[in-house]
Amino acid sequence: DDRISRISSSIRVIPDFPKPGILFHDITTLLLDPTAFQDTIDLFVERYKDKNINVVAGVEARGFIFGPPIALAIGAKFVPLRKPKKLPGEVISEEYTLEYGTDIMEMHVGAVQRGDRAVVVDDLIATGGTLNAAIRLLERVGVDVVECACVIELLELKGRDKLGDKSLFVLVSST
Ligand code: IMP
Repeated sequence: DDRISRISSSIRVIPDFPKPGILFHDITTLLLDPTAFQDTIDLFVERYKDKNINVVAGVEARGFIFGPPIALAIGAKFVPLRKPKKLPGEVISEEYTLEYGTDIMEMHVGAVQRGDRAVVVDDLIATGGTLNAAIRLLERVGVDVVECACVIELLELKGRDKLGDKSLFVLVSST
């Protein structure tokens, strides 16, 4: 698919960011190419339209870039999954483990209902800890997480394994 190769070549890779030894995949250069950005959204929309998805849950921060246009195109609600203490209303929280220490993901109570069908969107899966937390958060309140969707998968970190039998859809795999 030419669309995938254009998307793949529009992603910039920056060594030693945010710390030495890390190869950072930067999607801001994808956003500078309207064709690549549109193709990215279209590929997700093609996959999720007609699947009775009524929630697109976006992981802060870059899930907030890709999630909303997908949600609008498939007629689903967009639900932000945020870093702690950002959401003003009552929240439910899920703690998860990072390389060093832990973090917390929050969602507004009442944003989703038992029986909703969700796709979780982020820019990239590395170890899978973030998406795993998002799945747990949504499932705790009775949401059916149909799939997780990312632009990029870092294969070496085997994050996919951390999602158990939950399905993961990615556009670009990086070694
Ligand atoms: P994980 O929890 O280890 O899978 O890390 C995924 C989270 O970290 C996502 O929210 C990503 O946005 C972020 N992340 C990790 N590595 C990168 C990268 O190379 N580029 C952009 N985001 C990254």
